[in-house]
Amino acid sequence: MDLNTVTRVIPARTRADLSSLGGGAVPLAGGSVLFAEPNPSIHTLVDLQTFGWQPFVVTDEGLEVAATATLTQLSTLPDDHGWQAHPLFRQCCTALFGSFKVWNVATIGGNICTALPAGPMTSLFSALDAQALIWKADGSDQRVPVSELVTGNTTTALEPGDVLRSLHVPARSLASVTAYRKIALSALGRSGAVVIGRLDPVDGGFVLTVSAATVRPEQLRFAELPTASELHAAIESIDSWFTDAHGAADWRLAVSGVLAEQIRLELSEGAKR
Ligand SMILES: Cc1cc2nc3c(=O)[nH]c(=O)nc-3n(C[C@H](O)[C@H](O)[C@H](O)COP(=O)(O)OP(=O)(O)OC[C@H]3O[C@@H](n4cnc5c(N)ncnc54)[C@H](O)[C@@H]3O)c2cc1C
Repeated sequence: MDLNTVTRVIPARTRADLSSLGGGAVPLAGGSVLFAEPNPSIHTLVDLQTFGWQPFVVTDEGLEVAATATLTQLSTLPDDHGWQAHPLFRQCCTALFGSFKVWNVATIGGNICTALPAGPMTSLFSALDAQALIWKADGSDQRVPVSELVTGNTTTALEPGDVLRSLHVPARSLASVTAYRKIALSALGRSGAVVIGRLDPVDGGFVLTVSAATVRPEQLRFAELPTASELHAAIESIDSWFTDAHGAADWRLAVSGVLAEQIRLELSEGAKR
C-alpha cells in the first residue's frame, strides 16, 4: 500500500540520522507492517537498513543479533556453534503467519516493536532471556529484557524516537535444551499460543515462556523441572490471557496448560538420558 502522506525518506547511516524521529517520523525496517495499512499520521520514514548492521555477531558472551536481521537470515543461520537452542530459531520463524515472501523482508526488530501478542520474535528472544539494546532518543543506551520490552497488545516500553538496535542472547541460553509448541485455530493460522521451555545448562533451572495467548510474554521460573501440579498452578496464576479472532481467553489458558505439560514431559525425558 502506498503511504501517500510520506514526503521524506531518510537513509540512516549514523546515529545522528535518527534525530528527526518522533511524531510523524518513524523507523522503517522491512516495511511489512508499515506498508500493510493506512498510516496517515506518518510523514517521514527513517530507513534503518541503510545502517548496514552485521546481522549476527558471535562472541564468548553469546550472540548479538541486529534488529534489522530478517527472519530468513535467522532461520538459515548455520548450526555450527553447538548451540542446543539452535532449533528454536527456525521453529519460532515458522510461528509467523506469513510466507517466505514475508520472511525475506520482515525484520526481528520490526516484529518485536510491532508488539503483536503473536510476535514470534518476541516469543523467541523472551524465551532465551535476551536483552534488547535500545538507542534512546536522547543519545543514551538502555538495556531491557525483551520480555519486558513488550508491555501489551501492540504496546512497548519504547518512547518516541527510540530505536531497537540489537538483541543480546547469553551463551548460557544458547547452550540450553529447549522445547517448543505452537497452536492455532487453523493449520497455518496466526498463533493462538506459543509456549517455550528452556532448561538452564548450569543450574538446571526451568523457564517457561507463554506468548501469543497472553497480551505480553509471561515467564514462569522454577529452580528445577516442576511437577505437573506445580506447573498447572503456575499457568493458572497468569492473568493476561486475551480473546480475539484467533482464540478465546479460556481456550488459550486451557491449551497453554496442555502444551506446557507436553514440554515438561519432553524436557524431563531428555534430562534422564
Ligand atoms: C502476510 C503477513 C503475515 C504476518 N504474520 C504475522 C504474525 O503471525 N505475527 C506477527 O507478529 N506479525 C505478523 N506480520 C507482521 C510483520 O510481517 C512482522 O511483524 C514483521 O516482523 C515486521 O517487521 P518489519 O521489519 O517489516 O517492520 P516494519 O513494517 O518496517 O516496522 C513495523 C513497526 O516497527 C517499527 N520499527 C521497526 N524496526 C524498529 C526498530 N529497530 N526500532 C524501533 N522501531 C522499529 C516501525 O516504525 C513500525 O512501527 C505479518 C505480516 C504479513 C504481511
